[in-house]
Amino acid sequence: MTRDALIIVDLQQDFCPGGALAVPHGDAIIPVVQEWVNRFADNRHLIVTTQDAHPPDHISFLERGGPWPPHCIVNTPGYLLHPALRLPPGHARFLKGQDRDREAYSGFDGVSADESALSLADYLRSQSIDRLYIVGLATDYCVRATTLDALAAGFETVVIKNGVRGVDVSPGDSERALAEMAAKGAQLL
Ligand SMILES: [Zn+2]
Repeated sequence: MTRDALIIVDLQQDFCPGGALAVPHGDAIIPVVQEWVNRFADNRHLIVTTQDAHPPDHISFLERGGPWPPHCIVNTPGYLLHPALRLPPGHARFLKGQDRDREAYSGFDGVSADESALSLADYLRSQSIDRLYIVGLATDYCVRATTLDALAAGFETVVIKNGVRGVDVSPGDSERALAEMAAKGAQLL
């Protein structure tokens, strides 16, 4: 039997409208994500969230020569998951981008928020997971990086197209990212 996990990438307030680095209409995916959360919770499948978790002087920020305004700084509201998302107790949390000098787009750069400090890949293997369903923000950055790392780590990977949204700094970035993920072996649902 295939064991599934739902990976919710960076559905944080700073990446939603009103946040410091908002994905246009990023919050529009929440009802879709919620449906998948409910489905996975009903079937007692694993649910994992990832979060950007930056220090105030992270290397990706403009004042350090990076491409982004300050965002997802730990212990600020923007760091928190969107409050409209209802998660069951006991879901697994992974944090990334804590090192001030290292950028981290992929959830697979993350470590568990609990005392185990496991990497995401090690954690998923410890749970005997073989297939990942990916939703979240943003299609052309962290969803892309997480999906490509999932495939490289050997997981069957399904990207839920209406459960992701992109930034599209250049028009078409999200479509190109989805095409790249599919070319590397991701299923687009
Ligand atoms: Zn970031």
